[in-house]
Amino acid sequence: MNPYNKGQLLWSFCAHEVWCRIVPNPYALTRAKPVKYDFLAEAQALAAHAVNLRRDFHRHPELAFQERRTAQVIAEELSNLGLEVQTGLAKTGVVAILEGAHDGPTIGYRADMDALPIREETGLDFTSVHDGVMHACGHDGHMAIALTVARWLADHRHALHGRVKFIFQPGEEGAGGALAMLREGALDNPAPDVLLGLHLWQPLPLGRVGLAEGAIMSGSSTFRIVVKGRGGHAAMPHTTVDPVACSGQLITALHTIVGRRMDAMAGAVVLSVTGLRTSSYAHNIIPEQVEIIGTFRTFNAYTSEMLEQHVRDVSRSVCESVGCTAEVTVRHLTIPVVNDRQVVRTLRQTFAQFLGEDALDADGRTMASEDVAYMLEDVRGAYFLLGCSNANLVYGHHHPRFDIDERALPLGVALMLAAIGHYVLEER
Ligand SMILES: [Zn+2]
Ligand SMILES: [Zn+2]
Repeated sequence: MNPYNKGQLLWSFCAHEVWCRIVPNPYALTRAKPVKYDFLAEAQALAAHAVNLRRDFHRHPELAFQERRTAQVIAEELSNLGLEVQTGLAKTGVVAILEGAHDGPTIGYRADMDALPIREETGLDFTSVHDGVMHACGHDGHMAIALTVARWLADHRHALHGRVKFIFQPGEEGAGGALAMLREGALDNPAPDVLLGLHLWQPLPLGRVGLAEGAIMSGSSTFRIVVKGRGGHAAMPHTTVDPVACSGQLITALHTIVGRRMDAMAGAVVLSVTGLRTSSYAHNIIPEQVEIIGTFRTFNAYTSEMLEQHVRDVSRSVCESVGCTAEVTVRHLTIPVVNDRQVVRTLRQTFAQFLGEDALDADGRTMASEDVAYMLEDVRGAYFLLGCSNANLVYGHHHPRFDIDERALPLGVALMLAAIGHYVLEER
């Protein structure tokens, strides 16, 4: 049960194995730097703030590049904390710099802002007020965690050796927000030395963290195949070139590419046909053409190019075999999210102090995609997955009943503070 659903601010961390385990000696492991702060306790003290922010964002979701209210809330919050705030990047993006009292490196922290075109069915008290729009991916939580981190760091500016650059990015859900932010200089002046970010992750239970060196999330591509035949009367199919029958064969052939054309040792690959549309829709008409759409995901550019070629070859040969033609369009949407090995090792060591090694997935990779990939191509850094489900929260990302266990919010704050703190906080 989510303790906030009853309006209680009672923390039930001790009911959770992970939180209990850290209490006796949270810094049992050795660490490169001396530790002064108990980030779990610090984050717990700000938990209500994070939850309030998340619920406010959740109640007011906005689609890609329309995040105007969202941007306003973020900008106001950060201005009130004394940060230097820049708005209007890529329409609705916000970048803010927290300058420390001492010199040091620049750490970037990226959070995404957009919601999805989904009609919410959670029944939560703070359900979306915008019909057909919902924060169903956890981006409401990402913004709440980042703003809470900003609040703590702003209060500890005196101990900061360097600066933290907060990058709130619009339009992550396939809308190209990261590239738009890059084009408008979000990672320039100053360029971060290290870029960090997290995604609340439903497949992982609360208390677990997915971290991986190298690629952690796949690159994503889409394909669209227009199968053209010659339509006609359904009672006389021999007078037509039937694109529907052809599409049936083609879908089967496409789904055998991964298992039969790709090297099983070549790494994780997935291909899914996700939609089918006929040019006419009636019992007695064989349509003129059929449109097939789908996606494929890979962890490297070479595999992605191989898959594209296979999709083209299979489409052409299956269609030719029955007299149809295939028009194939492939779009590469995002590249894989590739983490810097050294930064991941640093995070792993830092997080293990909180959660123990057991809570960290040794290979927390996923076939899902994230356009933070383009930022991590420019700047070394790491993106990690933070477990946010429990036994009662079974609906996945992008589902109308998706929800998070809000205890993940202070945990995310603690992890990000520890990660940023490793680079810019010294015990003084
Ligand atoms: Zn999403
Ligand atoms: Zn997302």
